[in-house]
Amino acid sequence: MNTLQSDQLFQRSLGLVPGGVHSPVRAFKGVGGVPRFIQSACGAELVDVDGNRYTDFCMSWGPLLFGHRDPEILEAVGTALGKGWSYGTAEPYSLELAELITQWIPWAQKVRFVNSGTEAVMAALRVARAATGRNKILKFDGCYHGHVDSMLVRAGSGLAEMASPDSAGVSSRVASETLVVPLDDLEQFEQAFELHGSDIAAVILEPVPANNGLLLQKSEFLHQVVKTARAHGSLILFDEVISGFRVALGGMAEATGIQPDLVTYGKIIGGGFPVGAYCGRKDLMDWVAPQGPVYQAGTLSANPVAMSAGIAMLKKIKRENPYPMLENRTEKLSVELERIARECSIPVKVQRFSSLFWIVLGEIQTADGWVRNPLQTPAQHKATYARIFHALLEKGIYLAPSAFEVSFLSTAHQQEHLGALAEAFSQAMKGCIAD
Ligand code: PMP
Repeated sequence: MNTLQSDQLFQRSLGLVPGGVHSPVRAFKGVGGVPRFIQSACGAELVDVDGNRYTDFCMSWGPLLFGHRDPEILEAVGTALGKGWSYGTAEPYSLELAELITQWIPWAQKVRFVNSGTEAVMAALRVARAATGRNKILKFDGCYHGHVDSMLVRAGSGLAEMASPDSAGVSSRVASETLVVPLDDLEQFEQAFELHGSDIAAVILEPVPANNGLLLQKSEFLHQVVKTARAHGSLILFDEVISGFRVALGGMAEATGIQPDLVTYGKIIGGGFPVGAYCGRKDLMDWVAPQGPVYQAGTLSANPVAMSAGIAMLKKIKRENPYPMLENRTEKLSVELERIARECSIPVKVQRFSSLFWIVLGEIQTADGWVRNPLQTPAQHKATYARIFHALLEKGIYLAPSAFEVSFLSTAHQQEHLGALAEAFSQAMKGCIAD
């Protein structure tokens, strides 16, 4: 595959942009090699600057439920653009999107739009602190909540201690307001609440953690987390930036039957444009300015073009209910990939939920055969993933360029695309045996 143009653009970018990219994982650091510079996309396909075509299973990290350049979203965006693209005033577009969300999602009684998932989380945490009069937030190791200072933390040396910074530039004082406990471990969670329960404003979690692999949690775990948190007067903040409108119309909250107090959305609600939202109980959202004393603002918030994309997306979801079909295709694909690996006697499990899937490479050592927290990921997974990733890339298959990111199906992925992945995967597995 000729990648000369991508190589040259990456060299130029390296001189001007940290690491050559505007979001770290795009740099291929986790898998090695030079990132492909994509110049256009349609349906399930990406085209790079050298003219190479790839079937895309990364799908802009989740927002493109109907594939790239969906005609309905394109039309809505074109219509909005024709009228103007930033007013900095009250406007009707965000109202329509807010009405769609609040009509369909009973626990989202009020909504505030922002420009990213990170912003949504940052503001929702502020609301939780204000409304409870408490400062600490409990998060789970293995969940990602954007680059908010207080969430860029890792577990401290003991539960009695608070988290330590997980990024340079995060102050230990900010980190000390966060508690980090392992996923799938009720004992440590309960212990953290025994020690700090009356100081914890909120428990934040990805109800289906999808940023460190796909770490599906047991239903009993999620329900107990909610029960304990509520017993201590702490709020439940579901971070549904990935799972919202992706796994069901009502996201994981609907799938689990748990109604969070606050919820954050992103990705799908903007149809691929920069939109985030935090929503929740009316009494909590009424803390937000100008109604209440929690300050949060945005020059470009509720951008009319992005709102129009989101409206088109949600209306199409409601009309088409794509979830059963997506789940069915994801299941078939996962089963096929596992079958191919089994034929080659290579241990592979495809952990999947709805249209999300994560190819786990290596022997999983847990009792039930599932990876449910990051420490359970097989030791050889990362290195093997890098090999498989490049073998697939050469065959025109674009998986997420990181062993710990999940892949996504869209309705644009037809049998031919799934077949292309299976065929390339089969060759990659055979290559593994040959070595
Ligand atoms: N929360 C979750 C669960 C996410 O997956 C992400 C991004 N992958 C974020 C928050 C941050 O969103 P953004 O990248 O739009 O800031």
